[in-house]
Amino acid sequence: MKRVFSQLPQETALALKLLHEAGHEAVLVGGCVRDACMGIPPHDWDIATSALPQETARVFSAWPLQRSGEKHGTVTVLFSGGPVEITTFRVDGVYEDHRRPSQVQFSQSLQQDLQRRDFTINAMAWDGTSILDPYGGREDLRRKRICCVGNPAVRFEEDGLRILRALRFASVLSFSIEEETAQALLSQRNLLHSIAAERISQEFLKLLCGRGAASVLRDYRPVFEVFLPEIRHMAGLDQRSPYHCYDVWEHTLHALACIPAEPDLRLAALLHDIGKPLCCRIDETGRGHFPGHQELGASVAERVCRRLRLSRQMTAEITTLVRCHDLSVVSGEANVKRWLRRLGSVELYRKLLELNRADTFAHAAPAFRRLPILDEAEQNLAHILNTGQCWSLHQLAVSGKDLRSFAHGPALGRLMNRLLDSVIDGSCPNERDPLLALAARLAVGTDAPAESSGGNPCP
Ligand code: ATP
Ligand code: MG
Repeated sequence: MKRVFSQLPQETALALKLLHEAGHEAVLVGGCVRDACMGIPPHDWDIATSALPQETARVFSAWPLQRSGEKHGTVTVLFSGGPVEITTFRVDGVYEDHRRPSQVQFSQSLQQDLQRRDFTINAMAWDGTSILDPYGGREDLRRKRICCVGNPAVRFEEDGLRILRALRFASVLSFSIEEETAQALLSQRNLLHSIAAERISQEFLKLLCGRGAASVLRDYRPVFEVFLPEIRHMAGLDQRSPYHCYDVWEHTLHALACIPAEPDLRLAALLHDIGKPLCCRIDETGRGHFPGHQELGASVAERVCRRLRLSRQMTAEITTLVRCHDLSVVSGEANVKRWLRRLGSVELYRKLLELNRADTFAHAAPAFRRLPILDEAEQNLAHILNTGQCWSLHQLAVSGKDLRSFAHGPALGRLMNRLLDSVIDGSCPNERDPLLALAARLAVGTDAPAESSGGNPCP
C-alpha cells in the first residue's frame, strides 16, 4: 500500500502539500485509497478537503482553474502535468428523486464526508501518513465483500444507481455482496427505473468488463431485467441440440466470460443470442431450431443499445456483431477477404472472430471442431494484411475513371464489384491490364460472372 502511495503523481502531492500549508485538512479519498489498499495502481486520485471552494481557489490562484463543479464543491486545478480534482467535504441534503441530493452542504468534517459515500471500501481516506477507515473498509477488502455504509435500504432509496454500482464493484473486484446489501438491492431493484440511461450504461459497461461479470449477471439477473427485460426469456430456454450443453442464458454467460474484457465485445456477447426466445421451433425429432435469430437479435440489440443511449458507432458495431455472429468461416483467404469487404473494417472482423470463438467455447464439445478454422482465419487475416492483398474497391488496381469507357452510373459500380469478386476469388490478379481486359469482356457480356457477392450476408 505504501508503495502505491509513494507513486502519487507530483501534482497530487503538491496539491495536498499546499492545502496543508494553508491550514486546511486535505486527504486522498474514495477509489484511489481502495485501490492503493489492494496494491492496484489507481487510475485517478481524488482529494477531499475542509477548504471551501473559494478557499481552494485562493490556494491555487497561480494555476488555471476549472470551476464548473463548484456548486458541488469541486475545483479542478489545471496543472501542466494534468488536472487535479479537489472537493470540499460534503454532507448530502435530502434525496427527493432517488437520484441526487436536492442540495449539498459543505462540511468541516471528514467523518461526515465519508459517511455519505456508498460502500465501506469506498469510504476510506489517506491523510499522508495513515488510513482513516471509520466503516471497516479494510476489513471488507480482506473479506472481499461489498457492504453499504449505513442502512442499505436507505442508501439505495437515496440513490438507486448505487444498486448497480454495488454489482459493478462486485464484478470488477470479484467480490461477494454482503447479505443485507444484497437483499436490499434485489428488493429495491425497481429504483433503477428512475435513473438516467446514461448513468446506467456507464456503470453497466464497467460491470460487463469485470472478471466476475458472468457470476454477477447469473446471481442478480432480476436487477438486470429492470433495464434489459429481453434477457428474461433466455433463462431456462433449452436449446435441444447436441451442440449445446447449456440453456440460452447459461450459454450466453459462458460466452461473455470467454470474450476479452472490452465493452463492445462483452455487450455483443451478452446480446448475441437475444433473438432466440423469439423464434424457437422444435422439430419432430425433438431438436431445437432458431431460424432467423441473428436478424431478430440484431434488431433487439439495436433497440437495447438505443435505450442505453450508447454512441451511434457502438450501436452499429454491436448490431452488426449480433447479426453476423454465426459467421460462416471456411478455410482459405478468399473467405476472410469477403468478410472484410462486407464489414468494411479489419477491426470489426477481428471482433467478429472473437465473438465466434467465445460463442464456440460456450457450446458442447462437438462444436469445438470449429476452433481450428477460426485460428486459420486469424492467420489468413495477418497474411492478407502483411502482404497488402486487395479486399476493397479502393484497393483495386483500376479506378472508376479507368473504367468510364465501359460503364457509367450504377453499372460502373456493379462492374467494379465484379472485378473485385474476381480479384478476391483469385481468378484475376489485381493488376491494371488484366483488370481492364476483364472489364472489357464483362462490358460486352462475354464473360459475365454471377451477381457480385458484395452484399451477400454470408460470404
Ligand atoms: P473507479 O475506480 O471506477 O473510478 P471510484 O470508487 O473512484 O471507482 P467514482 O465513480 O469515481 O468511483 O466515485 C468516486 C468516489 O465517490 C467513490 O469511491 C465513492 O466514495 C463516491 N461515490 C461515487 N458515486 C457515489 C454514489 N452514487 N453514492 C455515494 N458515493 C458515491
Ligand atoms: Mg474514480
